Amino acid sequence: MSSLSIPRTLVALAVILVTAIAAWATAGIEAGGIALIGAGLAALIASPPPEELVAPAAPPAPPERTETSAREAIEAIFEPVLLIEANRVAAANRAARTLLGEHILGEDVRVAIRHPAAAERLLSSDEGTPGAPVHLVGLGTLDQRWEMRVRAMADGGRIVHLSDRTGAHAADRIRIDFVANASHELRTPLASILGFIETLEDAADDPETRARFLAVMGKEARRMQRLIDDLMSLSRIEAEKYRAPDDRVDLVQLFAQVRDELSALAPARAAAIVADLGDVPAVRGDRVQLSQLFHNVVGNAMKYGRPGQPVTVGLHAAGTAMVRLTVRDVSEGIAPEHLPRLTERFYRVDSSRSRAAGGTGLGLAIVKHIVERHRGRLDIASVVGTGTTVTVLLPAATEIPGALSS
Ligand code: ADP
Repeated sequence: MSSLSIPRTLVALAVILVTAIAAWATAGIEAGGIALIGAGLAALIASPPPEELVAPAAPPAPPERTETSAREAIEAIFEPVLLIEANRVAAANRAARTLLGEHILGEDVRVAIRHPAAAERLLSSDEGTPGAPVHLVGLGTLDQRWEMRVRAMADGGRIVHLSDRTGAHAADRIRIDFVANASHELRTPLASILGFIETLEDAADDPETRARFLAVMGKEARRMQRLIDDLMSLSRIEAEKYRAPDDRVDLVQLFAQVRDELSALAPARAAAIVADLGDVPAVRGDRVQLSQLFHNVVGNAMKYGRPGQPVTVGLHAAGTAMVRLTVRDVSEGIAPEHLPRLTERFYRVDSSRSRAAGGTGLGLAIVKHIVERHRGRLDIASVVGTGTTVTVLLPAATEIPGALSS
């Protein structure tokens, strides 16, 4: 009912009353006519004017934001969020309870978020720059990093939002270390080349010295070239990371080709390669990258294996959907603490040995990225004093009906 309807109804009632008294007073023939006019008037007064009939209804008032709906809203957020009232935790979503514990509800917020930087910010009446984060290192586990943001609400409460920066921080660290390592690796041979150029300028007339210095300069330049080639390979493989390779690659044939190439580079050592080849289907892959994978893994076994000892390369079907490549060497092996880090860029167990053998420290990082792009699996196992076995599983181009797991 509109606000105008109430007085209008009262007036209509008054008209009916007056009409009834008039009809009672006259009580004659006119009584019927008076009553009729009165009723008509009353109906006219009581009915709303035409504009009131067409006026749009006022929009319904929004439902009041209750405490329950605030709880539901924060529950829908995947990162930890807490509602604080009078410095106590009034509500905390699941992510916050998982991080800080179920007991935090009702607790003093400084006890709930046990971190000195958080306590300082939460105690301060100064809101600081709105949205400016406070960095919390070691909240949750020791290596976790969080960004905490606090916002005041109209009702005097505060909302605390924590966002996990652990992954982003680790990625930043890797990028910074990578640039520093790559610069260092390039600067060392470059400094050597520049030094020899200067010395050559002084001793240019001694042909023997010249030849010796030029040989060293050539070696250092080739080291720089290998490093640049590996850096470019890594960035190309990473750029193609999300594009699945789609060539059909015959690994047995590719291995024969790589073996010839290795024999041309290091005939004595390549002679120790023993092939253990099964009946394997083609794999779904990138031919150039798989050739690089063979070069790096078999090349490592040749470099780090004991001279004269065999390097055994196996190719077999693994179930119906995968092909297994194994490369086994006989060597002093790798201590277990190094194994998880071997695929990190520039990680070497023995730097001087790697450099002496022409290593860049990027070979296994490249292998890992190639295997990931091929949706395969890489495993490096080693027994100290016995040797190392690198296993790579790659998806077959087509499933092999009835093939057995080996
Ligand atoms: P590098 O160019 O130094 O060989 P990689 O990335 O290929 O770099 O390998 C990283 C490190 O892992 C090597 O420096 C070496 O210490 C160790 N490594 C790799 N393969 C073998 C192996 N077959 N036997 C022993 N150590 C190995």
